[in-house]
Amino acid sequence: MELRLIRCKCNYKLRMGAGTCPYCFRATPLYNRYWFWIAMILGIAGLVTIVLAERKVAAALF
Ligand SMILES: [Zn+2]
Repeated sequence: MELRLIRCKCNYKLRMGAGTCPYCFRATPLYNRYWFWIAMILGIAGLVTIVLAERKVAAALF
C-alpha cells in the first residue's frame, strides 16, 4: 500500500516520503517527509512531558 496524500504544485499525487516530485522535479513540502512527522511527534511528546512535569502529574504517574 502506498500513501499518496499530498499533491504537488503541478497537481501530481506525491508518494509519502518523496523528496522531489517525480513529474516536475520540484522539491516537495516538508510535511511530505517522514522525519518531519517524527520530529513533530517527538516535539509534542516533549512539550506534553514538560507540561505534565510542571503540573507535577508526571510524579504521580511514574
Ligand atoms: Zn510536481
